[in-house]
Formats: sequence, structure tokens, C-alpha cells
Amino acid sequence: MNGPETAPGTPGTAQAPRPSPRRPRWGHLSEPRVLFPLLSVLLLGVLWTATVGLMRQEYANSRAAAIAATQKITETYEAQIVRSLREIDRTLGAVAYAYSLRGSRLALPELNGRGLLLPPFLFTISITDRDGNLIASTRDDQTGNVADADYFQAQQGGTVLAAGLPIPDAQGSGQVLSFSRRLEEPDGGFAGVAVVSVDASYFVSGYEPTAMGEQGFLGLLGHDGIFRVTRSGEAITSGTRVSYDQVVSQGSDDLDMTPVTLAVNPWDGVRRYTAARALFEFPLAVVVGLSADEQLIPARTQARRYWQRSAAASVALLGVMALLGRLSWQLQQSRQREAQEQIEHAKRVEYMAHHDNLTGLPNRGFFSELLNQSLAAAKRYQHELAVLFLDLDRFKLINDTLGHDAGDDLLKQVATRLSSAVRESDVVSRLGGDEFVVLLPEQCDEASLIAVAQRILEAVGKPYVLAGNEFRVTVSIGISRYPDDAEDEQSLLKNADIAMYRAKESGRNNFQIYRAETDALSLERLNLEAALRLALERQEFSVYYQDQLDLGSGEVTGMEALLRWRHPQLGLVLPRQFLPLAEETGLILPIGKWVMETVCRDCVAQQPSEDRRVTRIVNLSARQLADDHLLRDLSDILRRTGIDPSLLEVGITEEVLLKDMPRVVEILADIRALGVRVAIDNFGASYSSLSTLRQFRFDTVNIDRSVIRDAAHSAEDRRLTEATIAMGKRLAFTVVAEGVETEEQATFLRAASCDKAQGFLFGHPQPREQLPV
Ligand code: C2E
Ligand code: CA
Repeated sequence: MNGPETAPGTPGTAQAPRPSPRRPRWGHLSEPRVLFPLLSVLLLGVLWTATVGLMRQEYANSRAAAIAATQKITETYEAQIVRSLREIDRTLGAVAYAYSLRGSRLALPELNGRGLLLPPFLFTISITDRDGNLIASTRDDQTGNVADADYFQAQQGGTVLAAGLPIPDAQGSGQVLSFSRRLEEPDGGFAGVAVVSVDASYFVSGYEPTAMGEQGFLGLLGHDGIFRVTRSGEAITSGTRVSYDQVVSQGSDDLDMTPVTLAVNPWDGVRRYTAARALFEFPLAVVVGLSADEQLIPARTQARRYWQRSAAASVALLGVMALLGRLSWQLQQSRQREAQEQIEHAKRVEYMAHHDNLTGLPNRGFFSELLNQSLAAAKRYQHELAVLFLDLDRFKLINDTLGHDAGDDLLKQVATRLSSAVRESDVVSRLGGDEFVVLLPEQCDEASLIAVAQRILEAVGKPYVLAGNEFRVTVSIGISRYPDDAEDEQSLLKNADIAMYRAKESGRNNFQIYRAETDALSLERLNLEAALRLALERQEFSVYYQDQLDLGSGEVTGMEALLRWRHPQLGLVLPRQFLPLAEETGLILPIGKWVMETVCRDCVAQQPSEDRRVTRIVNLSARQLADDHLLRDLSDILRRTGIDPSLLEVGITEEVLLKDMPRVVEILADIRALGVRVAIDNFGASYSSLSTLRQFRFDTVNIDRSVIRDAAHSAEDRRLTEATIAMGKRLAFTVVAEGVETEEQATFLRAASCDKAQGFLFGHPQPREQLPV
């Protein structure tokens, strides 16, 4: 036993993942409905990431710039304050020195004289005694006692510069800051203080609104946590108290780096980049702040601009994408529509190639395909099938009298009825004209076939309303079966056709199942053609005659010659079975000549009396009429036999007449010129229209036996027959009804003033020998 090994030559393929037969996983991405939104999202993503990046960068730059500016302003401010304080301290030093040399009264004028005092319009320099009384000043109005002032008290024990708390100035409009130094007696005892007073705003005059905005901050803070002076925009204040340690951090000792913090300033609640530096030589610190809001304004403006541009770009992008998406969608749609139309067109063409365009039923070609498939299946699974060949019985009459539209209408109605009379699985097809076939692919026992055929007869037989009137149409059905009657498509159809003819023969409006024994006189198998060739010389032909009576008097006025072939094996063969082949092979010419000659001889030999004239009627086929020798042969025979030409009548069918109208009319005229009568045969059975027939005046019109038989059915049928007889009268001198089988028909024909009649009612075709001599 073989184990489940991998096939040789394909090692390992079993494990390999199979490629999916579906379209690639990302295939749907190329659809515009997906592609464009996705692309839009991607592009918007890129755009906004860049925008946000730029905005962040902008803010970061702004922050860095604000920090740098804060540091720079702090350093500048510190330098400026230190310079001013040194000035003041130097002045105080000079005053103390001059005091020690010159005493209180002369010290100031002396220094002033030397230009060593600070400008008097900004600074006031004063001297007090040890009790705090102002004893000298650069300003005259400077009197009183400053013993309570902090800058005075600070010097009683100290020797360094003291910065006093701000005091409202004399006008009450501003604040004054005073700086002091100790004055000593020559023995070193306390003698008083030298004071430099200056408007507090002097220390914040470096505030530049252009650089620092409306909410920037400059402040001079004492070690005691009290702001000597601050300025923010135009507002100058003094005396605000804060926590010195909080404002001035430890790191501020570092000279190179001024730490900048971003925080809400506790003194006025404004968020600022703030830096503070303690001044080494003085008990003071400088504080600088730049408003975060103000510093970020340009960044914000720029960011807004970026935002706006991006928003505009986004809208434009979405617009373009929407447009492209729509165009591409439309393109796809129109491509799809086109493809759809092509498919539809192909389907239509395919349908038209397979279906009859009047009834929509499968056509001959398609039927043949279906039949062959069914045959193959039947062979394989060994079951039977049956083919029903249908031919409408009076279709041509309807077509002629009511016109082609009504004919088409009728065919459509018949098609519908046929389809509903059989099962879904059965196939109904129109072969052309008024011929239909039905394929029953299963259930072919005789009982089922009979049931189906009867259902069809019943369905087709119901009245139709055409052009406002009710009509009845019947159908003749022939049935052949696989495998009993035939084994291939051709034979099945042919046998069903043969059976159908038997149905027509047996009075129409019925069905016949193919009978091998009789139907298959299988003429082909017997090599009909060879037999037919020999038939003449072997004298197997004979002529039968059928009487034609005057309907009024009942007298026999004519005899139609009908050819018979007595075959040694098959017995009596009817013209329908061998004439088509005789036509086809041309054998009809010698045979027809023989018939003509025989009939003429019989006529001359059997003419009852001079006054009882009995006409002989001979049928001529298309081929005979087309024969160039016809006239010559005919006149030869007339001459040879000596027959009275007026006792001879040739019958031609409508179809023959219509084949080559002008020529046939000419020949018929020539025949009449010989004195021979001309009859139109099978009138009312085929397509011909009255107008074409009118081109020739006939001696006789033979109404087809289908018309006569149908007259029995209903009042409408009778009216149609009457109309046909009336039409015949217009075409000829004499109207003959063919195929009269019942007394009822004869009575009716008499009433319809039909001249003559012929049919089984009056006599069957009989051989010559039995005719009364
Ligand atoms: P047709 O010219 O219509 O001949 C009349 C046919 O109707 C004959 O069939 C005749 O037997 C049949 N018949 C007569 N009375 C009745 C009736 O009451 N009921 C029914 N059901 N049938 C009736 P037949 O002899 O088989 O001839 C068939 C056709 O063959 C003829 O049709 C004719 O077209 C053709 N044919 C016969 N003999 C000749 C001939 O010598 N030469 C030519 N060219 N054609 C011939
Ligand atoms: Ca005839």
C-alpha cells in the first residue's frame, strides 16, 4: 500500500500557501470611491502635521526669543541701576568727606562749586544733624526732621549705604526714594546723615514700551521684600510687598546666566517671563518681566496665518480630490456602462441567433442543438424522447384573407398556447412558416404522448380573436420517438413530418404517431429514384380519374386525371410520395408527357356522346411549366390524339403561378391559344394574393379541399368559404369545390352558388378500366 506521500517532483509544495484566486488584497484601493478619500486623508495628514510642526516651531522660537530678551533687558537694567546707585553712593561719599572738612554749611556749596553734585533737577542732596534735623540741602524748601525715616535710623549704627522705603513726594503725585550715609564727628561719633533723594520713577525710566510692551515689568526690590519702585507700561507704583526669596532665586548669583522663569507674577497676576538679579554692593535686586501673552503675539499671529493657509489648502485639496474623484467615478461608471451594454448587446445577438423573432421561441438551429443534446443524454441514460411535428391547418387562408399582421398575431398566440400546453422542461420551437416542433425529452410512453398531443390540439383549437373577429384554427401533429422510430435528429424530424402528413390526410386537427410498417415505406431505402426511372418503361404507372359534377344538375361534366404508381413491392404509391422526387430529378417531364398523352387518348376513346361533353383535367407541375418543350409537346399530343382541345383542362397550383409570374402568364396564354382550358388549383390553400392572380383570367378555379372541409366547422368558417368562392368567381368563369365529402358540404356549396364539385362524396379516383365506355 502506498502511504500519503507527496507526488514525485513536487516536494514540499503541499505546505506552500496557495495563491488566492481572488483579486489582490489591496485591489479595491484602486477604486475611486476608496482611493480618493484615502489620498485626501493622507495629504491632509501630511499638510496638518507640517502645519502643527511649523506652529510649534514658531511658538518655540517666540519663547526662546522672549527668554533671550528678558535676559538681555535684565542685564541692561542691572547695569543701569548699578551705575545710578554707584553715582549716588559716590555723591554721598563726597558729601561725607566735604562735611568732615568744611562742616554742614559749606560742604554742599563747595561740592556744587566743583561740579561734584548730581544734577539738582533730579536729585536732592541734604544733610541732617544727629537729631535728624535737616540742616543743609540743595533745595531751599527742604526743612524739617527725618529722625523717623528708616534711612536716618539705619545710619545711627551702620556705615553702608541705606536705601530707604519710598515716601510720597511733596506734591503727592509720586514717590521719592532716599539713600543715606553716616556723617561722623571727628571722634567718630554719629553726627547725622547725608541723604540723596530722587523721584522713584528715575529707576524705571529705562522702560521701553517698544521692547517691553504694555505689560512688561521693571522693578527695584529691596532685601526687605518691598519694591522701591515698579513699572508696567505707563503704571508706576512703589511699596508693593513680596517674598524676596521667591522672586530672587539662588541661581541668580551666576553672572553669566540669568535664569528666566515663566510664571504668574504674584504682585499683579500677569503671566511673565521673569528674571531677577541681586545687586552685590547694594541691598537691592532688579526684577524684569516680559508678558507671555504679549511676547507670543507674533507667534500667535504667525500660527493663525499658518492655520488659515492650511485650512484654505485643505478646502482646496478636498475640492480638487472631490472633483478628481467624481471624474474618475464617472469614468468608471461610463466604462462599466459600456461594458454592460456590450454584454447586453452580445446577449441580444446571441438571443436573436437562437430565437425566432416573431414568437420568441427557439429557432430551427437552436432546436437542432437542443435536440442533439437531448439525444446524447437519452443515449447515455437509455431513456426515450419524442418529437412532435406540428403544422397549422388553415394558416394560409387566414394570412390571405386577414393579412400578414393578423397571421403574425395568430402565430404568436399559437406559440403562447403551445408553450403553456407542455411542461417547462419540454421545448417548443418554430421551424418557420406555420410549422412548429415540440421536443419531449422524457415520459414518452404512448399514453403520455397521446395526452400531450390532445392537450395541444385542445389548446390550439380554441377560438382566436383576430382583427376583431373570432376564428378557429386547428393543427395536425405527427409524432416520432427515439429510439423506436429513429435514432438521429434528421430521421426523427423526417419521420415526425411523415406522421404529420398522415394526420393531414386523415382529416387534419388530429395527431398520428409514426408507424414504421406503413410510413416507412422507406422509399429512400428502396432507392426510389432508380425505381422511378424504371417505372415508365416497366409500365408501372396508370391514370385514375375522379369525377367532377355540376352541382345544379348532378351530371358528370369532367374527370380529373390522377397519376398512380403500382410498385411491384410497395403496391400502390400515391403521388405525394414520389412526385417531389420526380420534380427534383426532372423525371416529371417524361412522366407528365405520358400522362398527357394517355389522358388525351382515353378522352378520345371514351367520349360518351357528342352532346355530353366530359372535360379531362390534367395537373401540371412547376417543372413542367418551366419546360421549353411544353407547348410543342402539347400541340404534338393534341394533333396525334385528335382530341378536341376544349375538352382538355390543365390545372396549375397558385405556388407554380407565383414562381415566375410574367413567364407563366405568357405560357398559360399560349396554352389557351391552343384551345385548352386553364384552371387554378388548390385555390385558398396558400399565400397568393388576389391582386397577383387577377393578372390572368382563368377558365376554372378549384377551391382547395381544406377550405371546403373547414366550411363545416362554424359560421365564421362558412363565411370565409363563401368569401373564397366569391373571390374565385371574380377570377374565373367556373368555380369548382374540391374534396367534398359530406352531403352537408354539398348543400352548403349549392347555396353558395358554387358551380361544380369533386370529392369522395361523388366518387373516389378510379382506374380507367372501370370507367363506363
Ligand atoms: P390535387 O390536384 O389537389 O388532386 C386531388 C387530390 O385530392 C387527389 O389526391 C385526390 O385523390 C384527392 N381527393 C379527391 N377527393 C377527395 C376528398 O373528398 N377527400 C380527400 N381527403 N381527398 C380527395 P392524389 O391522387 O393523391 O394526388 C395528390 C396530388 O398530386 C394532386 O393534388 C396533384 O397536385 C398531384 N398529381 C396527381 N397526379 C398528377 C399528375 O399526373 N401530374 C402532376 N403534375 N401532378 C399530379
Ligand atoms: Ca388538381
